[in-house]
Amino acid sequence: MKIGFIGLGNMGAPMALNLLKAGHAVSVFDLSAQAVRTLADAGAQAAGSPRAAASEAECVITMLPAAPHVRSVLTADDGILAGIAPGVPIVDSSTIDPATVKACAELAARHGNAFVDAPVSGGTGGAATGTLTFMVGGSASAYEQVKPVLSAMGTNIVHCGDTGTGQVAKICNNLVLGISMAGVAEAMSLGEALGIDTKVLGGIINTSTGRCWSSDTYNPMPGVIDSAPSSRGYSGGFGTDLMLKDLGLATDAARSVRQPVYLGALAQQLYQTMSTHGAGRLDFSAVIRLYRQDGREASGGGAR
Ligand code: NAD
Repeated sequence: MKIGFIGLGNMGAPMALNLLKAGHAVSVFDLSAQAVRTLADAGAQAAGSPRAAASEAECVITMLPAAPHVRSVLTADDGILAGIAPGVPIVDSSTIDPATVKACAELAARHGNAFVDAPVSGGTGGAATGTLTFMVGGSASAYEQVKPVLSAMGTNIVHCGDTGTGQVAKICNNLVLGISMAGVAEAMSLGEALGIDTKVLGGIINTSTGRCWSSDTYNPMPGVIDSAPSSRGYSGGFGTDLMLKDLGLATDAARSVRQPVYLGALAQQLYQTMSTHGAGRLDFSAVIRLYRQDGREASGGGAR
C-alpha cells in the first residue's frame, strides 16, 4: 500500500521504518531534512511537504508533537488536505486533545476523508519493535480500513469508539501513570528515610498490592530495577515535559466536562516544578528528586 507519513521523530521514524519492513511504499515528510534523509536511505520516498507526501497515498499517518502541529500539517496551503484524494483515511497517532481531533475530523470530512485518532502506548522501544498499542477512535468502517496498516507497527490495535475516544483512552492511561509514579516515588523515599534497604522495599511492593508499572518496570529509586531510567541517571524513557503535556490534556479535558481530577492536578504541579527546575528532558520518574533533596541520591545514581 502507498502510505504518506509525516513526523519522523523519536516515535515516527521507527514506526515508518516498520511500514517499510512490512513492504509498504512510504512517502515521508518532516521539518528536519536529516530525519527525511535517514528514512530515504532506508527506502522511503522523500516528499517536500505534507501535501506531496499525501498526494498519491492510500493512507496518511501523522506523528507530531502537539495539537497545533497536527492542525497546521492538515490545513496549511501545502498541507495534507491540499493533496489527498477523497476517501483516503488520515490517521493521527500524536497525543493531542479530543476536541482538536473532532475539529480535524470535521475539516477532513468536508474533503471526503475520515480522520482517525490512534495515539499509542509502548514508547520508543515499542515503536522500534513494532509492538505498540494503538487506541483507535473513529467509525467502525474507518477502523477496519486502517487496522491492517497499524498492524505493521503494533500488536494491539483497539477500537475505542467514536472519533476522539482513542485520545480519551490515552489521556486517562497517562493520568494513572503520572499519579502512580508520584505515589511510588513518595513511598520509596519514605522507606529509604525510615531505614529499609530500597531494593528489599521494591521487591516487597512488586509482589504486593502496591505493584504497578511505575514500581516494577520504571521504579524511580536508583538501583531497584537495573533497566529503569532511574538506574542510568533518568536518561531515555518518557520525558517529564511529555508527561506534563499529557496531564495538561487530562486536566483541560476534565474541565470541559466539569469532572474533578484532584490527584491529576496535583501530579501536574509536581512535574511542572521539575520542568521549571530544568528537569523537563529527564525521564518522568525523576519526580523522586522532589523527595530526595539532601544528597542521598548521589550514592544511587547521581544528582545530575
Ligand atoms: P519528537 O519531538 O521526537 O518528534 C516530532 C517530529 O515532528 C520531529 O521530527 C519534528 O521535526 C516533526 N515536526 C514538528 N512539526 C512539524 C511539521 N509542521 N511538519 C512536519 N514535521 C514536523 O516527538 P515523539 O517523541 O516522536 O512524539 C510524537 C508524539 O507521540 C507526541 O504527541 C507524543 O506525546 C506522543 N508519544 C510519545 C511517546 C514517547 O515515548 N516519545 C510515547 C507515546 C506517545
